[in-house]
Amino acid sequence: MLEFFDTHAHLGDGVFETDRETVLERARAAGVINIAEIADAPAEWPGALALSRARPLQIRCALGLHPYYAGQFTPALLESLAAKAKLPEVAAVGEIGLDYVKTDTPKEVQRAAFGALLAASLSWGKPAVIHCRGAYEDLRGVVGELCPHPPAEFRFWGVIHCFSGGEDDALFLIERGFALGVDGPVTYPKNGSLRAALGAAGLSRLVLETDSPYLPPQSSRGKRNEPAAIPEIAAKVAEIFGRSLEDVARETTANARALYREAARV
Ligand SMILES: [Zn+2]
Ligand SMILES: [Zn+2]
Repeated sequence: MLEFFDTHAHLGDGVFETDRETVLERARAAGVINIAEIADAPAEWPGALALSRARPLQIRCALGLHPYYAGQFTPALLESLAAKAKLPEVAAVGEIGLDYVKTDTPKEVQRAAFGALLAASLSWGKPAVIHCRGAYEDLRGVVGELCPHPPAEFRFWGVIHCFSGGEDDALFLIERGFALGVDGPVTYPKNGSLRAALGAAGLSRLVLETDSPYLPPQSSRGKRNEPAAIPEIAAKVAEIFGRSLEDVARETTANARALYREAARV
């Protein structure tokens, strides 16, 4: 049986309230044996911790401050996150990042919060889960400054989740030690340039994710997304590289374990 890792989901979302167990069952049946639950803001941290504590073998979590909420960033928030980031079930800091498309939060406010949170993740020895929308130039600026080289001890500093940049962005980011997250949009017919950028990055730098309940793949566009969609994304990745689904499952799951430092020195 193939084993997949959904590196980015929001199962704490209210749309899963009534059937979360069934969704997790379907994930397991589809071979998605691990899921990273991502919390976007302090109000979501307790729920993500509870979800990962209830299913320690299947779920780990990341706690962060989404760029939508960058205006909430304070030294007290950073202190509170520092205390929680030490917990073993907290696999990463995120999501953090920049979004110049979907929010009115001023760019300088986003850049300040993102820079502080990325620097904090580095100092805490935790990988960063980074959201970037319409902000690749500034992302490259922050990453170039804080992560000029790949890490010595691990394979990745973190992941650019739902990667949507160009080939230049992909190469810039992987050369500095970041993995790229691939989700539903890779399956959309119009996204040839995204597939080309991911192809240039190479399978060894890619991790699979659903971003559930968002970003459903082509077969379920317009519907709620869930971790069981991972094999459809994997099949498209296999097509990009001319590799088997088995290869893609094995390699991306190994990459995900390296990302979340479960197999640190692969
Ligand atoms: Zn995101
Ligand atoms: Zn997300």
